[in-house]
Amino acid sequence: AKRNRPMVTIFEQIIKREIPADIVYEDEKCLAFKDVNPQAPTHLLLIPKKRIPMISDAVDSDQELLGYLMLIARRLANERLQKGYRLVINNGPDGCQSVYHLHIHILGGRQLGWPPG
Ligand code: 5GP
Repeated sequence: AKRNRPMVTIFEQIIKREIPADIVYEDEKCLAFKDVNPQAPTHLLLIPKKRIPMISDAVDSDQELLGYLMLIARRLANERLQKGYRLVINNGPDGCQSVYHLHIHILGGRQLGWPPG
């Protein structure tokens, strides 16, 4: 009989070291690595180890984890990007989300445009 197995994303495979990534930070709650297709001179992805497919799926009990991710994102960005940066969460089709494991994009190293296309 078919098991009702949740879909495993490429980011979960990175967490488990099943596929390689250029990892720049890890702790018990999260992992950060370089985006394989960078949109700026610095383009990192910060993900929780907990499976949350998208920010719209987050629940009240994720409050502490989400705050923690923001502080880690700030720290990784502050260390690298003294002239400023952007933190981005894409959500769903209109948000151009392509990997359904929550991630914060950390972008910088050039003048970024606004508004986004
Ligand atoms: P999204 O469009 O979902 O917000 O962003 C997904 C990001 O993940 C994209 O910027 C894409 O380049 C990146 N990405 C997709 N697959 C891989 C991968 O296998 N390794 C790494 N390092 N980044 C990936």
